Amino acid sequence: MGLPTPGPALAGDVQADVCIVGAGYTGLWTAYYLKKAAPQLEIVILEAKFAGYGASGRNGGWLTNSVTGGREQYVKSHGRASAAAMQSAMTASVDEVIAVTEAEGIDADIVKGGELTVAMNPAQLARLTSFAASEQQWQADVDIEVLSAAESSARINVAGTLGGVVHPHCARIHPAKLVQGLARVVENLGVTIYEQTRVSEILPQKAVTDRGTVSAQVVVRATEGFTAGLAGLHRTWLPMNSSLIVTEPLDASVWAGIGWEGRETLGDFAHVYMYAQRTADDRIAFGGRGVPYRFGSNVDTDGETPESTISSLRALLTRFFPGTADVAIDHGWSGVLGVPRDWAATVGLDQGSGLAWAGGYVGTGVTATNLAGRTLTDLILGRDSELTRLPWVNHRVRNWEVEPLRWVAVHGLYAAYQMADRAEARGRATTSPIASMADVVTGRH
Ligand SMILES: Cc1cc2nc3c(=O)[nH]c(=O)nc-3n(C[C@H](O)[C@H](O)[C@H](O)COP(=O)(O)OP(=O)(O)OC[C@H]3O[C@@H](n4cnc5c(N)ncnc54)[C@H](O)[C@@H]3O)c2cc1C
Repeated sequence: MGLPTPGPALAGDVQADVCIVGAGYTGLWTAYYLKKAAPQLEIVILEAKFAGYGASGRNGGWLTNSVTGGREQYVKSHGRASAAAMQSAMTASVDEVIAVTEAEGIDADIVKGGELTVAMNPAQLARLTSFAASEQQWQADVDIEVLSAAESSARINVAGTLGGVVHPHCARIHPAKLVQGLARVVENLGVTIYEQTRVSEILPQKAVTDRGTVSAQVVVRATEGFTAGLAGLHRTWLPMNSSLIVTEPLDASVWAGIGWEGRETLGDFAHVYMYAQRTADDRIAFGGRGVPYRFGSNVDTDGETPESTISSLRALLTRFFPGTADVAIDHGWSGVLGVPRDWAATVGLDQGSGLAWAGGYVGTGVTATNLAGRTLTDLILGRDSELTRLPWVNHRVRNWEVEPLRWVAVHGLYAAYQMADRAEARGRATTSPIASMADVVTGRH
């Protein structure tokens, strides 16, 4: 599918009840649930480019129940019951997204085939074992299957797999179809989306653009990885890049060697991990890290991706699936995701100023944005609910370091993770201490 033609821009000052900045999943889910719950509300969305321009239109399509930053952080801050409630809410959100797309007639190529993560060396296998044990402990009612090398390869034949683990709470989606479908649905509900309208500053009850100002009781910041571009928010969430390549549709003969009949999403236990899906039109979409971070929190230009990133993803794809060595790469792009200093996503509303926000999902926002949209709806409508009591609500964390420290830190840590992956690929049996140290510094432990 090609890029959409942007819709009309804001043309002067406007008054609304709620103004949402950013038309990705966060902004659109918020508009959807809010308008359904309170149809009388005048809701306006301001979008710099077009709906789905950001990560929501460009992601790897894993609709997974994974809790951003892990559950343990919430055990420490709120206790085990609260952490368990967060996990359950994420699990329920996977099915909620599927149910709404069905009810609203959004065709986003969704197949709930589960999530298969493979281990490619002994250290990864050790992490697989502890991951499986932790999942079984946290989700006693969930069928977590630990697979031998042969069982894992029978599902998806990744060359050199030592084992795999699969859980059922993940679906493959087509990211752009979901975001474009959602935009259509919210517009049909009566929400106005102004595209080509960049907000320069969010103030209490105001979103300021060079085309006019929207005044509203509540202004929702839903700008995720682009947040650093707003006045006063330069160091809030670090914009981290992720890149994807997409093959041409593969021949049946290539698929015969790979399998992947169950349409599971596929990941690995590397520190610089990969993520992949088999698309509805029988391509492989294969993602991972490229240039992780640009100096001064700059973001890529319209998804442009360095040739070196494309070729390193290509090399990894061929290592995983030698049968794809000769297939063409039809597409490659990058996108930006928001990383808070403690890698923990957040959603909240400041009652006094009417400023609301959601984001910092790192690499797992496809599902969390739906939970954020429902939670913001309850917060804005003043409802005390199970959602508003979840531990990520109103969570705040300190800002990132100033430059050049920020650039040095991210590139240094990324290099450390790559070094750890190389040491493990050479056969060390346990997680490299370099990676463990980097985890402590990044707050990913
Ligand atoms: C390559 C890649 C792969 C990923 N894969 C997965 C995955 O498989 N599973 C998963 O769970 N997550 C994944 N993610 C993360 C996930 O896509 C995001 O967490 C999610 O889409 C965030 O949605 P959002 O609406 O908050 O942000 P976005 O989709 O980024 O939307 C923000 C919107 O705000 C607009 N905007 C920004 N600044 C302004 C401004 N000043 N004024 C007006 N508008 C503005 C932008 O144009 C954009 O449309 C991936 C991300 C990337 C980049």
